[in-house]
Order: sequence, then structure tokens, then C-alpha cells
Amino acid sequence: MKTIDLHAHTTFSDGTFTPTELILEAKKKNISAVAITDHDTVNGLDEGYIAAEKNNIELITGIEFSCFINNMDIHILGYMFDYRSKILKDSLVDIASSRVERNKKMLKKLNDVGIDISYEDLLCETNGNSITRSQFADAILKKGYVSSKNQAFKKYLCEGCKTYVKRDDMPPSDSVSLIEKIGGIPVLAHPLRYNLTFEEIDRLVKKLIPYGLQGIETIYPKLSKKDIEEIENIAKNNNLIITGGSDFHGNAKPNLELGSGYNNDISVHYDLLEKMKLK
Ligand code: AMP
Ligand code: MN
Ligand code: MN
Ligand code: MN
Repeated sequence: MKTIDLHAHTTFSDGTFTPTELILEAKKKNISAVAITDHDTVNGLDEGYIAAEKNNIELITGIEFSCFINNMDIHILGYMFDYRSKILKDSLVDIASSRVERNKKMLKKLNDVGIDISYEDLLCETNGNSITRSQFADAILKKGYVSSKNQAFKKYLCEGCKTYVKRDDMPPSDSVSLIEKIGGIPVLAHPLRYNLTFEEIDRLVKKLIPYGLQGIETIYPKLSKKDIEEIENIAKNNNLIITGGSDFHGNAKPNLELGSGYNNDISVHYDLLEKMKLK
């Protein structure tokens, strides 16, 4: 059986494998096609395509947008779009600068309560990529203010913490429209990670369809058979395709394997990709 993985991160966002290493991992695991879906960036794709061609792996252009609405972090995946498009580039620049503003505010709040970290400390935690709360947590931990990354989130970085600053609202409908505009396939990522009921997921999907939503990520690690059936039904009833992937992050998500998830709890068939190509 030809298997694929439509959700993987590289060092260009918060994964630990370079695009080349990711392609080599796909080859090692006998995975026919893999999508690079870095958070809010397409910068890993050029390297990915060079490695993919060399190693005879089918690379799928992808991205994962972190959207934010009504205090909810919703992720939208995009596939098979023109990743060199000027419209996309401009939007990504806007997203990056709004993050920089947010980071400056959060840094000031942390400094005000005595957490002595600098912008340089945060930059040290990235590979020249964007700074998220994850890098704040790393820096706070490194300076010894907490004893674990999780504690950094609990004490300083959680929604509801005094030193937390929320990201600018970026409605998922905007990301869906953008992906549609550049010729791609917009997909709602991991619908069961938002603490929504199936009814609420259905409502969210129905809201996004007029903007161009075409699919739901249905095969994903740690889902029960019932979860998958419910999501499949939502997809079917709304005339959407289903996609699937491991959300691979390399060593940043220990024990999660490309293509197979945790202990082989996922398997994504090449057929799903064929359906996407017909879109
Ligand atoms: P941001 O987009 O800046 O709000 O931060 C999101 C980043 O923080 C993502 O990489 C998440 O995986 C990470 N994150 C959120 N909550 C936690 C947590 N409790 N422990 C570790 N990482 C987290
Ligand atoms: Mn991530
Ligand atoms: Mn996600
Ligand atoms: Mn992801």
C-alpha cells in the first residue's frame, strides 16, 4: 500500500528535522508523498523540493496557518498552492510583523515582573525563524526562573496569565480565502484539538465553506475510531474531502513517527492525495 503524510514540520518552523532530513525520513519509512506544512512560512519548500527530487519522494506544497478568533487557536492547512505568489508573501510578512509587535509587548510585561530576558535571548532559541511562546518558554527555563517548559507556560505564558499577550485576531476565514486565492486547497487542521463538540465543529466548517474550505484533516494521531467516523460524517455531509497526517515535529514531539504517528495509530492512503489532485 502506498502511504503518505500530509502534515509535517521542519526546522523552518518548530520541527527539528531540516527539509532534507524530513525527505530522507520519508524515504527510510517508505512513504510515497509528504507535505511540508510549517507554521506561517513556506521557506522550507525550496530545500524540500531539491531533496525530494534527488530522493524520488513526492513533496506536496503546504503551510499551516495559526489563526485566532474568539480566544480560540484554530489552525488552517493549505495545500498545492503557488508558494512563490506575491499575495502569499505579503500576507506572511504581515503575520510576521504582528508577531514581532506582540512579542515586544509580552517581553515588556515579563521584564516588568522581574523576568530578566532580552530579545536576543529569544532569538537564540530560534533558527532565525519566528519567535512564539515556545521560545519564550525556552528562554525563561534557560534563565532558571522555572524548572520545566510546562511550568513556564503555567506561570507566565498561558492565556489568563498576567504576562500573556494574545496574538492579533486572524480569523480562519482569512486564511481559507488566502489559500483559495493562490490556487490551493484549504483544510481545517486537527478539528478535535479545539475542545469543540462535533456539532460545534460542524458549525465551524459550515462557516468556512463560503470562504472556500475544501477539506477536514480527519486522520490524525490519538483519535478514536468513533472520533474519525464522526469527522468523516461531517466531511461527507458538507461535501468536503478528508486529509490526514502525523503532525510530525521530529524530536520536538518524541515517539511521534512520520507517516505512522504514535505506535502506528495512523495510516494515510495515497488515494486521499489523488482526490486532492482532482480539486
Ligand atoms: P503562540 O503561537 O506564540 O501563541 O505559541 C504557540 C506555541 O506554543 C506552539 O509551538 C505550541 O506548541 C506551544 N505551546 C502552547 N502551549 C504549550 C504548553 N503548555 N507547553 C509547551 N508548549 C506549548
Ligand atoms: Mn508546531
Ligand atoms: Mn496545528
Ligand atoms: Mn502542525
